[in-house]
Amino acid sequence: HPNWFSPETGIYSSRHSPRSLPQDAFLDLVTFLFSRPHRGEIALVDSVSGLSISYPDLRSMVERVASGLRDIGVCPGQAVLILLPNSVLLPVILLGVLSLGAVITTMNPLSNIKEIQKQMECLRLALVFSSSEKLASLGRFGVPTVAVPSDLSYDSAQYPVFHKIVSGNPRIDWKPAIRQSDTAAILFSSGTSGSSKGVMLSHGNLISMVELFVRFEASQYKKHSWEDVYLAAIPMFHVYGLSLFSIGLLSLGSTVVVMRRFDAQEAAKTIARYRVTHFPVVPPIMAALIRAKDAHGCDLRSLKQASSGAAPLSKQLIHEFLRTFPHVDFIQGYGMTESTAVGTRGFNTENCKKYTSVGLLAPNMEAKVVNWETGISMPPGKSGELWLRGPAIMKGYLNDEKGCESIIDKDGWFKTGDIVNFDQDGYLFILDRLKDTIKYKGFQIAPADLEFLLISHNEILDAAVTSACDEEAGEIPVAFVVRKPGSNLSSAEIMEFVAKQVAPYKRIRRVIFVQSIPKSPAGKTLRRVLRNSFCPSRI
Ligand code: AMP
Repeated sequence: HPNWFSPETGIYSSRHSPRSLPQDAFLDLVTFLFSRPHRGEIALVDSVSGLSISYPDLRSMVERVASGLRDIGVCPGQAVLILLPNSVLLPVILLGVLSLGAVITTMNPLSNIKEIQKQMECLRLALVFSSSEKLASLGRFGVPTVAVPSDLSYDSAQYPVFHKIVSGNPRIDWKPAIRQSDTAAILFSSGTSGSSKGVMLSHGNLISMVELFVRFEASQYKKHSWEDVYLAAIPMFHVYGLSLFSIGLLSLGSTVVVMRRFDAQEAAKTIARYRVTHFPVVPPIMAALIRAKDAHGCDLRSLKQASSGAAPLSKQLIHEFLRTFPHVDFIQGYGMTESTAVGTRGFNTENCKKYTSVGLLAPNMEAKVVNWETGISMPPGKSGELWLRGPAIMKGYLNDEKGCESIIDKDGWFKTGDIVNFDQDGYLFILDRLKDTIKYKGFQIAPADLEFLLISHNEILDAAVTSACDEEAGEIPVAFVVRKPGSNLSSAEIMEFVAKQVAPYKRIRRVIFVQSIPKSPAGKTLRRVLRNSFCPSRI
């Protein structure tokens, strides 16, 4: 057996050497982030206007936001919702909140009022940062709101509170005492089952993410990371974009070019205009970029690396991408909200290119591959559920000790709900998903949330939601519906009923009428049985 796998314990360790993590009890992410000098000049650029924030400006803006928030009464430990599309101002706000010792929480800005309300209710928010369009509808919740402009040039009379927060004099006489164990972020994920839950990430988790994911990767390629230019097209409210663009890359001195919303042709033009070198993507963005390149022939020669994550990727798409962009180093990475985006990253060498693998385990992280029926740990080459342990694993779920006990065992192993295997070289392959989560274009959907809505319809007796494979979106939500006797409810009516109540990405895209929903003896809906009728399991 290789030295990174122990047959006695069934534990896989990282093939990479361990990295040292700060052990200080009192340390916050922002202090850690800015503690290392680098040669970077421009931190963030808006892809449309070209307006940018330099590294020195970023630091002072973050200090001013922290101090400005304190002046308007936000206290350490309180939660602040960032309900914004991608913008150069988002990282400034996020780091400002964290520097104050308050807790950030994010949400898809396309969420509707009902969804926002649900998340707000479990958080007791101190403040919401939102775009001006959303603001009117948020007023009814009685939480103070701050309208945020979409770019750096704005009319201060139109954004008075925001302007006051970012333009005051920072108070250097006051620094909150923040522990690494303090909660820094609450991000929402559906976990392995049920509806979405708040994943509590500590300052220590975020520091580990910076060190084990972003700084480690930069060191591995032995490159001048301050010369790298990243394109931020994936959403910054999701753990993947948040970790990279709002936090990790800003510790390297890299430049992050922010797209307010993704459009393939604009992305191609932006790569050419800013000489982008790195493009973190999700599978549907890869597909769209291939089409845009074919259509317009933009000069994308500056691009050195594309990394895909957050959702499964087909072999065909990988081949098309490699054919279209032969000069680009392509890798996949795997992570999740509960592991602060840390997990595995692809690593190509001259002799070893495993494009369909999600790569090698991050340093300082351990894994097990456990047969979910027998509980036996599997050696390389054999599949099972992936368990992860290490400093990037979340503190727990908000207000849900029970859910947490079942997902993190007493020895600290976090059960990912993904079915995987490691090969003989230690490269990880994601084979299937044991958990219920659906990934539409990389966005998480909790089937339980949609089932709850379906069952609330007075002509629906029972329902189950699962996913079907889809070329463009990766997966789409499909509803299996049992109508009440005598009902003639149509698929279109059902889809519309749900569409009115959810954000656009959560819509049901197909309805199948059935006589009954398959259940386990304990009454649990057998979603995998339904799903395998569309997406045959790869194991
Ligand atoms: P999230 O918390 O939204 O990041 O979702 C995490 C889940 O996305 C994982 O547990 C996997 O099911 C899936 N996932 C993440 N990265 C990949 C990948 N590279 N390939 C396949 N599935 C992935």
